[in-house]
Amino acid sequence: MIKAPNHYDIAIIGDGIVGSSLACVLDDVGFRVALVSADAWGCAEDCPDDLAGLRVSALSGSSCHLLQRVGIWPELASTGQLKPYRGVQVWDSCSTQDLTFQATELHRDELGFIVADRCVTLALHRQLAQRSSITCYTGVSLQDLSMFRLGCGRELNLDDGTRLTASLVVGADGAHSNSRFLAGFALQTWDHSYCMINARVQLAQSHQGTVWQCFTATGSLLLLPLPVTAGHNRCVLIWLVQPAQAVSLMALDADDFCQALGQVVACRLGSVLAVDSRLCAPLRQQHVKSYVRPAMALLSDAAYIMHPLLAQGTNLGLLDVVALTEILGYAYRRGADFSSLPVLQRYQRRRQRDNLHLMALTAVLSRLHGTQNIRSYCWRNLSLGTLRQLPSVKCALMQRVIDLGLALPPLTLPNSF
Ligand SMILES: Cc1cc2nc3c(=O)[nH]c(=O)nc-3n(C[C@H](O)[C@H](O)[C@H](O)COP(=O)(O)OP(=O)(O)OC[C@H]3O[C@@H](n4cnc5c(N)ncnc54)[C@H](O)[C@@H]3O)c2cc1C
Repeated sequence: MIKAPNHYDIAIIGDGIVGSSLACVLDDVGFRVALVSADAWGCAEDCPDDLAGLRVSALSGSSCHLLQRVGIWPELASTGQLKPYRGVQVWDSCSTQDLTFQATELHRDELGFIVADRCVTLALHRQLAQRSSITCYTGVSLQDLSMFRLGCGRELNLDDGTRLTASLVVGADGAHSNSRFLAGFALQTWDHSYCMINARVQLAQSHQGTVWQCFTATGSLLLLPLPVTAGHNRCVLIWLVQPAQAVSLMALDADDFCQALGQVVACRLGSVLAVDSRLCAPLRQQHVKSYVRPAMALLSDAAYIMHPLLAQGTNLGLLDVVALTEILGYAYRRGADFSSLPVLQRYQRRRQRDNLHLMALTAVLSRLHGTQNIRSYCWRNLSLGTLRQLPSVKCALMQRVIDLGLALPPLTLPNSF
């Protein structure tokens, strides 16, 4: 066993929701953890009350349990940063069919919580700062990553000249992961021929604490409800459109953009009163062929980018955290080599299949919608109508999407240690 001061059991690259929560739970298991963050912390920047920031997540039950386990839930709840959502309304703009999911159908108070990613990340950083057992290297980027010359683990060079070693390196550094690149993981990418417009909008009518999803002839849109402040009903918009339409929509001024959006949603939500800064990016899906290499594992966006149709990116990333922690913790407690490839492959087996299934499902859904093809149109009508007639199937589907699997991993249940 290596005992050098700059040696860690596990070095995590990336301080987003996934990397930061992983650091906390691995610390709870007893690992010596280092976290490398490209961003400088300590600017004591509080999350704005109005939930500024366009990256929001609809947290599933299992994600909520994990954040409770990490210890940041009371802070998020007491500062009003969590917006419970109690329903999901899906409709097809080309037909009269629609489908409603309600929390009460699953005997729950809510289906999940909407929260700005920035609020969760800042709460996690405060949590990390309180844990003296975790070493955080902030404001520095990973520059070089090589196999440790003594044969076990990896050596990391940071761009401020710091060198450290770790038995295991975990890449949680997002879609453009440098750790993935430096370790030589093979990446597959697909272009969806769609663009994603992301904005915050204000609605004339109440959003009713509901997630609204509309499939159109040219794409789909998702409205995630934000807390009502000063009587304003605001939502985060994720609008998937074909590239030419994206260019036109982005060229519109705010009033015309609201009008264009209103034409899609007015039948359910009335007119759109205002929109703030809009972002537009091409939609890409990517997936590494293998999540693990010797002494290295990738999680979440570093390993795969999910289609935003079901807004499950953060939830899947947190399920990766749970799976990796349980598998490493089990090996650690038995005195086994937790960074060995057979142990890491267990993590890959547990997560890769589920992630690929969800990627395939969203790919099929996105193909069936966003088209005026008559067969796709009939299928859409039939499936929405049939689901409405079969409440038990609808509930099973809802449970699957909301909790991403009926059997929640033990770590996501409170007090599992
Ligand atoms: C516009 C938009 C809207 C989205 N909406 C939703 C939604 O509604 N629901 C949902 O579930 N998901 C959504 N997602 C996806 C979701 O945000 C991601 O799946 C999730 O945040 C992934 O978390 P992560 O921690 O893996 O990566 P990130 O959040 O990208 O964090 C990576 C971190 O690594 C750091 N980093 C990067 N490179 C280095 C380096 N070399 N060295 C050190 N640190 C580094 C970065 O600074 C960053 O803090 C959205 C994504 C986008 C872009």
